[in-house]
Amino acid sequence: MKEPKVILAGAGPGEAGLITIKAARYLEKADYVLVDRLVNPEIIQLHASPKAEIVYVGKQGGKESTPQEIINALVVEYGKKDGLTVRLKGGDIAFFSQVIFEIQALNANQIPFEIVPGVTSASGASASLRTPLTARGVSRGVRILTYHDGEHFTNYDWKNMADTTDTLVFYMSSKALPELVHNLRQHAYHDKTIAIIEQATTSQERVLLSSVFSFEDELADTIINQPALVIIGEVMKYYEGPSHVKDHTVSFFKEH
Ligand code: SAH
Repeated sequence: MKEPKVILAGAGPGEAGLITIKAARYLEKADYVLVDRLVNPEIIQLHASPKAEIVYVGKQGGKESTPQEIINALVVEYGKKDGLTVRLKGGDIAFFSQVIFEIQALNANQIPFEIVPGVTSASGASASLRTPLTARGVSRGVRILTYHDGEHFTNYDWKNMADTTDTLVFYMSSKALPELVHNLRQHAYHDKTIAIIEQATTSQERVLLSSVFSFEDELADTIINQPALVIIGEVMKYYEGPSHVKDHTVSFFKEH
């Protein structure tokens, strides 16, 4: 009989090959798999055992959603069963996820768990763009941020974000993008490139380019498909357009 154990794991940003070996190995052994919306279904097909019970617990921002309390309860319910439960979320398990509540619920119920990190979408997007998020003399740091309804930044914050040489990466912010750029523009002395990456690392990836000063004319009315990241910073001047060598049909996986 296998002891109960939960693995909280990141599945990577989209492309199936960007899951870690550790997460994939745990998936192969899992008796139960609790899967989030952003996880590429191919990852489940490739790595989960056909005998595993797969439970889809995806949250859809604004649309059909599973409230976090129900997800916490599910993680605890499965976590108490004998055997291995893998809780899989898109990107890294911890960035802009509500995993802290799942951790608290697991701790409160004394269920053993382990965290397996994943490639966050900012790293995935940076790789797809073939552009680093830091570069000596251009950008000394990266800020992982979000800006959406109800998010409050002070004037000091806006000024600081408009002036910094750090690269700003905004998650979950494409709906509030016109407002975000408007606020930056109000405080900016010089222009910066904005890159919007939809569905980074997948075959549906699309990149839109603009700048803080020209966004309003160029992109304000463009519909942005989800999920998307907004990257703002000097480093984006190194972006040289889409790769012609990337082949999404290459298979990295052993046959099952
Ligand atoms: N834990 C995830 C983030 C979850 S929040 C991570 O580490 O990446 C969900 C947000 O992540 C989306 O709104 C979007 O901003 C971003 N995101 C996730 N996957 C993405 C992808 N493939 N391309 C672009 N943005 C993505």
